[in-house]
Amino acid sequence: MRIILIGAPGSGKGTQAESIRQKYPIAHISTGDILRANVKADTELGRNAKGYMESGKLVPDSVIVAMVESRLTEPDCKEGFLLDGFPRTRPQAEALDSILEKLSISLDAVVQLDVDDEIVVQRLTTRRVCKSCGEIYNTVFKPAKVEGVCDKCGGDVIQRNDDKESVIRNRLTVFHEQTAPLIDYYRSKDILVSVDAAGGKDVVLKLLEKMKGAGK
Ligand code: ADP
Ligand code: ZN
Repeated sequence: MRIILIGAPGSGKGTQAESIRQKYPIAHISTGDILRANVKADTELGRNAKGYMESGKLVPDSVIVAMVESRLTEPDCKEGFLLDGFPRTRPQAEALDSILEKLSISLDAVVQLDVDDEIVVQRLTTRRVCKSCGEIYNTVFKPAKVEGVCDKCGGDVIQRNDDKESVIRNRLTVFHEQTAPLIDYYRSKDILVSVDAAGGKDVVLKLLEKMKGAGK
């Protein structure tokens, strides 16, 4: 199974990906996670990407495309993959088309997670993350037992720099301007399906099961 998840920041792409991965042995490729790992490890890629990420801007297409292309040729992608946060621009989508063509594979579905901007702002300003293990918390719905300390590993629980409200507004603008047009791009290829992001953490998994059942 090869799928793309498209959704605004905070639409819950990562959460949906996690529930899918528990059922299907496919690679979860989150360009945001790969970039953050590079920033943390202070690689050249990370040093280049950091400024863009902290201000909510997109990292240049050429950088992202090269990163995804090399990731897609790793062995764990043989069984399929889920792309989370990529493609995010028209040039990225076109580059992905040529990569897939080169590899002689095609996408099964592009799933659009639909969510309201104000819900995103509310969700992301209350989101916190463990600096050490990446566990996600929420100050309202899922606070750490001891404030600022990870339940799982004892690491520091912090707010991502790009989860500050002004940065979130920027990321939403970037989403509407650059990424939302991809919805029409994939609709015209007849592989787009839309789901309401408020439908719970398994909505995408359920949809995929239904499509499989229907022989898709
Ligand atoms: P979200 O979907 O919540 O905005 P991500 O974790 O997917 O967050 O991405 C965080 C940041 O990483 C983005 O704001 C952007 O700077 C950068 N990034 C991630 N994926 C891409 C991409 N495909 N193209 C350009 N920049 C990207
Ligand atoms: Zn932790």
